[in-house]
Amino acid sequence: GCGICVKKCPFNAISIVNLPDELEKILVHRYGENMFKLYNLPAPRTGGILGVIGRNGAGKSTSIKILAGQIKPNLGNYSNPPEWDAIIRYFRGSELQSYFTKLANNEIKAVVKPQYIEAARRVLKGSVRELIMKADEKGLWRDIIDELNLSHLLDRKISELSGGELQKFLVAAVLVKNGNAYFFDEPCSYLDIRERIRVASAIREFSNYEKNYVVIVEHDLMVLDYMSDNIVVVYGEPGVYGVVSKPYGTRAGINHYLKGYLPAENMRIRDEELRFRIHMQERRDVATTYPVLKWDAIEYRYESSGFKLRVEPGEAYAGEVLGIVGPNGVGKTTFLKLLNGEIESPEKAILISAEKVSVKPQELSPKVFSEETVMANLKSASPVALDPSSWLYNELVRKLGLNKMLDRRVDELSGGELQKLAVAVALARDADLYFLDEPSAYLDVEERITTAKTIRRIVEEKGKTALVVEHDLLMQNYISDKIIVFLGKPGIEGYASSPVDIRTGFNRLLKELDITVRRDSESGRPRINKPGSVMDREQKTRGEYYLPD
Ligand code: ADP
Ligand code: ADP
Ligand code: MG
Ligand code: MG
Repeated sequence: GCGICVKKCPFNAISIVNLPDELEKILVHRYGENMFKLYNLPAPRTGGILGVIGRNGAGKSTSIKILAGQIKPNLGNYSNPPEWDAIIRYFRGSELQSYFTKLANNEIKAVVKPQYIEAARRVLKGSVRELIMKADEKGLWRDIIDELNLSHLLDRKISELSGGELQKFLVAAVLVKNGNAYFFDEPCSYLDIRERIRVASAIREFSNYEKNYVVIVEHDLMVLDYMSDNIVVVYGEPGVYGVVSKPYGTRAGINHYLKGYLPAENMRIRDEELRFRIHMQERRDVATTYPVLKWDAIEYRYESSGFKLRVEPGEAYAGEVLGIVGPNGVGKTTFLKLLNGEIESPEKAILISAEKVSVKPQELSPKVFSEETVMANLKSASPVALDPSSWLYNELVRKLGLNKMLDRRVDELSGGELQKLAVAVALARDADLYFLDEPSAYLDVEERITTAKTIRRIVEEKGKTALVVEHDLLMQNYISDKIIVFLGKPGIEGYASSPVDIRTGFNRLLKELDITVRRDSESGRPRINKPGSVMDREQKTRGEYYLPD
């Protein structure tokens, strides 16, 4: 056994060739010989939204494609796939039996927001207005467009939408359809926290989950928690096999997932707990005698777009992480570019006493890497990045799975793989100051925590300084000592505060968003209050938007 499981280990965790018979009874799909295997499926239920959580490569998108009727499950028999009556018989006695019966009889009208949205940009020709009106089957397109704050973009061509705008358009296009099964595969990528809440509210309001099946895959735990009534965990070995758990209530399910143990199946899914340390004060004394980075009040304007940014003065010390939060389009990336000299600041307002600066840019492409392969990039970032005895290798390269793709060329990597490499390269470099612009985009929860831990370690143990732009508030709360809040009118003007303590910063952001967040009594993790709930109203009255004691 692997020593991970609580009872007799059902897998030989090193080689998964000998899976137990018990599990083989729920083999749902196999892509081909020696290819990925999916065990069990999320069983959609009416009356509530089902969330799906799990690692990248564990079979979440495969599950959605099967439930939506895009892939017919082959029960492992890829060379001689079974017919529907055999499939239905296979699921006899489980909730999936009635679902597949309906699917086989064309009684499921599935609508899917796919994980990857770039293809839609190429396929969809026309304006937001034309396409949403054409898609609309419920007569509700205006309400849905309003709820998602897309009304000002009605005349924009789909091809010209930003990633976040396209994401919201596709969510709208799914919700206007008159389906009875709605699937949202990672609907929050590219979105800021305000937009994530909008998407969550729109799905809850317009999917009619009382009568329809609604399933959502999402890595932002605070938002998934807010959207779902029940969740399933997909665990296993990424790329090799995935097992879908029994359904749990959302709160308990997320707590089990973080703990790494699923009680209903008596299964340990990870050898350690994923802990988001939640703290509100500065964690330790930093040497505040001499700042590594200091800026006076900055005013900057892009001539071509007219976008204006105003920044209050601030400084950063060795041993500190400054978190940067706020909506899209209000100048967060511009601010980092001003600090590191990529954009020249008109005034001599910025002092950097650090000799070396390491940057993880927001926009990734193979071009941001200096070398051709994963291995060469890691090597050039740090001579010990590939040394199996170094902590960098063990805590970063191995945990992100980069050790399994060392020979791959950067121009063949997927979005998530590029992000992992970019984060690893930026953190492996020896520098005094680290600028990380949206490091968690495309990463799963475990990869986010690996990244967050590494950032803390570099800052705490080596006395370095980091500035991190991040929309996942759980991760932001984990890594930051202080927060810079960006607010403003997206695309027109932005305004950045001086660095403030976490409670003050999050309070300011959440007040602007009209959202309150409480603490989970068991795990201590932050949970978004339902609007209008008792907690929500009490916290608003007291002005305590973020985690009152
Ligand atoms: P997730 O959505 O949880 O990240 P996916 O369901 O997309 O995972 O993929 C699970 C595994 O199945 C991955 O290893 C992926 O490479 C593999 N896979 C996905 N689609 C196919 C396919 N069409 N053919 C072969 N393998 C596939
Ligand atoms: P954020 O990182 O907060 O999403 P950015 O700093 O990327 O915001 O952009 C802020 C605004 O400035 C956006 O409206 C963007 O279109 C505009 N902008 C960004 N770069 C340029 C540029 N090089 N020239 C003109 N306008 C720009
Ligand atoms: Mg997926
Ligand atoms: Mg940005």
